[in-house]
Amino acid sequence: MTVTTAGALPEEIYDVVVVGAGVVGSAIARELARHPLRTAVVEASDDVGDATSKANTAILHTGFDAVPGSLESRLVREGQQRLAAYAAESGIPVEPVGALLVAWDDEQLAALPALADKAERNGYRDARIIGADEVYRREPHLGPGALAALDVPGESIICPWTTTLAYATQAVRAGVDLHLNCRVEGFGRAEELHRLHTARGTVRARYLVNAAGLHSDTVDRALGHHDFTVTPRRGQLLVFDKFARELVHHILLPVPTALGKGVLVAPTVYGNVLLGPTAENRDDRTATHTTAEGIALLREKGRRIVPALLDEEVTTVYAGLRAATEHDDFQIHAHPEQRYVTVGGIRSTGLTASMAIAAYVTELLAGAGLDLGEARDLDPVRMPNLGEAFPRPYQRAELIAADPEYGVLVCHCERVSRGEIRDALAGPVPPASLDGLRRRTRARGGRCQGFYCGAAVRELFVRRAELRG
Ligand SMILES: Cc1cc2nc3c(=O)[nH]c(=O)nc-3n(C[C@H](O)[C@H](O)[C@H](O)COP(=O)(O)OP(=O)(O)OC[C@H]3O[C@@H](n4cnc5c(N)ncnc54)[C@H](O)[C@@H]3O)c2cc1C
Repeated sequence: MTVTTAGALPEEIYDVVVVGAGVVGSAIARELARHPLRTAVVEASDDVGDATSKANTAILHTGFDAVPGSLESRLVREGQQRLAAYAAESGIPVEPVGALLVAWDDEQLAALPALADKAERNGYRDARIIGADEVYRREPHLGPGALAALDVPGESIICPWTTTLAYATQAVRAGVDLHLNCRVEGFGRAEELHRLHTARGTVRARYLVNAAGLHSDTVDRALGHHDFTVTPRRGQLLVFDKFARELVHHILLPVPTALGKGVLVAPTVYGNVLLGPTAENRDDRTATHTTAEGIALLREKGRRIVPALLDEEVTTVYAGLRAATEHDDFQIHAHPEQRYVTVGGIRSTGLTASMAIAAYVTELLAGAGLDLGEARDLDPVRMPNLGEAFPRPYQRAELIAADPEYGVLVCHCERVSRGEIRDALAGPVPPASLDGLRRRTRARGGRCQGFYCGAAVRELFVRRAELRG
């Protein structure tokens, strides 16, 4: 297992190097790990899943509303099936709560049959229109005025953090090298090899995959391609306290507009409720701050959907940037002459589609001449459970009896034990920061946002070498 965070990079020539360890790059690395190849991932950040992949709405989509016939439609549908099965096997929390796409006026009501038809054309056959009575029976706290809804029972909520970490963990365990703190600043080619220049030295590889998210177009240009431009589309979100959870049973979607899927109200697998996201085109690829205007807009929209939600406490706010482009589809292109595959424009469905994107990219690499060798099954990975719907360690008497550290709570809001923090710090892809530790355990992610547990968690983090033993 090799994860490096500092120092010189290995001299070896890799078969494939993947730029970017978001959910997409990590999924690709995991898929490549099934083959007898030497693969490396180079990531600018100090952790996996630290950019767009950590800040989304965490819905495992059916793809019912994709553009029929698009690559995205196919990969979302296939990705949903793959990820649902993978989650069940690896312990990634998923709750199949279903979605209701609510019509609030006559125009939206008139749009529902076309959306049901679109779902069919996307290969999703379980969507059906339900009347107001059924909508209110299933969502008693919905605001007044809902006329009907499209019921999409296949939509689920998922943990995005565990997903990326599961992919990366399995890839690393299977022999992929993960080089963190390793931003690629220049691209060259010599003797048929890609040469990726970083502050830690040069990585050499026969094949290159660009999974650089918001920077996928910049990398593509450095390789001589001008097929798309990323316009970061900010999505701000509010996270409501767990007391709000009983107000919302489904993912409550609006009827979509040209700018995207619109503002939703959805439960999270951690027991909270989300309200968001906004859809704001930005110039700045680092603009992940929230704004007073964004929050005011969300509150106004949320008040219509579930009025009582707005009386609940807000635990936190965050924002993510979608990699939108001028095209209405993912920008996945093979350049066989360069032994290069671009995986760009992975906009608002990339978490869902990640495993299907990985399989598709692997096919494209083979089509570009990479000899994949025979595929093998990877050793299964079992991730720690972060979901409220499944037993957490503090609830498992047998686990605590075997290892009392799981009974010692450090973060009381989120009920995170010392044992879980110890395990996360000793994991194959350990956290490099307190935020990374939060994404692995939920510690400091609750109502007090670390006010009470922050010092204790920080102490464990600082003493991690001692904890590892
Ligand atoms: C508000 C919002 C809501 C969303 N909701 C959903 C949802 O409900 N369901 C769903 O399926 N999807 C959703 N998405 C989309 C999903 O989050 C993205 O499609 C997905 O995270 C993209 O993953 P990625 O790996 O392509 O990008 P990223 O996670 O951004 O990863 C790219 C990585 O590349 C690295 N990198 C960039 N340049 C370099 C370089 N030069 N050298 C080294 N490393 C580099 C970055 O540091 C980064 O870690 C949402 C997105 C947003 C913003």
